[in-house]
Amino acid sequence: MPPPAPEPLLSVDALHVSLPGAAPAGVEAVRGIGFEVYAGEVFALVGESGAGKSLTARALLGMAPRTATVSGRVLLRGAPVTRTDLGRRLAGIPQDALSALSPVHRVEDQLALAVQSVQGLGRREARAAARRALADTGLGPEDAAAYPHALSGGMRQRAVIAMALVNGPDLVVADEPTTALDPDRQERILTLLRERCAAAGAALLLVSHDLEAVRRHADRVAVLYAGRIVELGPVDRVLGRPAAPYTRALLASLPAPGLPHRSRLPVLSGAPPFPGATDEGCAFAPRCPYATALCRTEDPEPRTVDGRRVACHHPLGETA
Ligand code: SF4
Repeated sequence: MPPPAPEPLLSVDALHVSLPGAAPAGVEAVRGIGFEVYAGEVFALVGESGAGKSLTARALLGMAPRTATVSGRVLLRGAPVTRTDLGRRLAGIPQDALSALSPVHRVEDQLALAVQSVQGLGRREARAAARRALADTGLGPEDAAAYPHALSGGMRQRAVIAMALVNGPDLVVADEPTTALDPDRQERILTLLRERCAAAGAALLLVSHDLEAVRRHADRVAVLYAGRIVELGPVDRVLGRPAAPYTRALLASLPAPGLPHRSRLPVLSGAPPFPGATDEGCAFAPRCPYATALCRTEDPEPRTVDGRRVACHHPLGETA
């Protein structure tokens, strides 16, 4: 008998996020997303700007815009996520490290306060825990004693990673955590983030538009388009042999290695639909070279094809 399937650490089901808009019910920017994240894995959400990936991450952290309407089921270790889970079982890393740190407190003081409030340790023990967490990300005593503005962008991002992990969360949600950094620093910070999460036993949900970084760092990936997941599975399958035409188009829009200087960069033709303007059929149909009449009238339901979940009437390679 095969071993029982592991229980998911995070289970997201039928997540909808609507923002205020012209329609009475608002603009549905996230349209019924569902996925699982398992203990110890790196799970990535990818897609173009406006696909709904950051809004999904913010909704999971209970940080969707105040005017948004969020519905659906989000369970962490089988229990609904509550506000008190943030900073404890669940930690977030935002795009802008500076906004995550208080400008008027030294970095180690901020971490020590977080440790005191969550773990109830005394000041001395909390400060020691803060220094250990900062040292684990490569920040020494002088950096730890600095104010955030005195640190470089990369060092601030290290401090935010330490802050996210200092209370031993089960899951870290990182929303484009290296956007403000140059490519070398991006790679070093992502490697550090993945390694520190693994060392701390935390799963990592990584929101990114950088497919190459996801290929290097994630175990599984969900590709979002117009607020829906169009393909979900192991990174080597989804990014190695995409089944959804949108995933293939996204990969084809990456610049080829060794592209000569001043060459035209490849682009994905057409534009994503305006959020909420996806009434009928597959949202990708206007840009899809494989679209048929069925695609224009019926929204495809997700199904399993070649070891991944695909929402497409005509997955690539299905009949090959
Ligand atoms: S359902 Fe049709 S339009 Fe949508 S991605 Fe698949 S083939 Fe293209």
